[in-house]
Amino acid sequence: ARVDDNGDLKALIRTIPDFPKPGIQFRDITTLLLDPVGLARCVERMVAATEGPIDLVAGIEARGFLFAAALAVPLKAGVLLIRKDGKLPGATIAEDYALEYGQDRIAMHADACAPGARVLLIDDLIATGGTARAAVRLLRKAGASVAQAQFLVDLPDLGGAALLRDDGVVVHALVS
Ligand code: AMP
Repeated sequence: ARVDDNGDLKALIRTIPDFPKPGIQFRDITTLLLDPVGLARCVERMVAATEGPIDLVAGIEARGFLFAAALAVPLKAGVLLIRKDGKLPGATIAEDYALEYGQDRIAMHADACAPGARVLLIDDLIATGGTARAAVRLLRKAGASVAQAQFLVDLPDLGGAALLRDDGVVVHALVS
């Protein structure tokens, strides 16, 4: 499928059943990335949805990185990486979050943002919100002001966007 003039981004996202495990409907955005018009639409819409000046776009590993860099250029902002613990070379701060079974940990460089830096958080998808909410806690611990988050896809039945809004973040998604 190719994106039409109305920008049917949903048609460019593929669903793979039972990945990475039975019962999960994986929303695969690699098909959207392959489409030059769809990708450009996506970036344009995210830039248009951004409110006010932004100092840093924080991308969540790994697909969030792609959109963070694409948005940072037109927004005249830098890119801040939020990675799985153990991947960043400098001194880091970390935050734990609960998974369905067990827990995970994300990290950022401790000196990545100045106090009060205006940060826009980006990921490809929000489901339960566990990852994005941990990223917001981490960024706020580092002194950032995180008022906005954007996603390509929101899975509203899982409630993550609502929880993130309760955390005081304006949440925008292109497709739900
Ligand atoms: P969550 O922490 O539950 O909001 O999950 C969000 C993170 O997991 C994002 O980084 C997504 O890329 C990934 N993810 C969760 N569920 C899905 C899904 N159904 N399809 C694709 N990616 C997903």
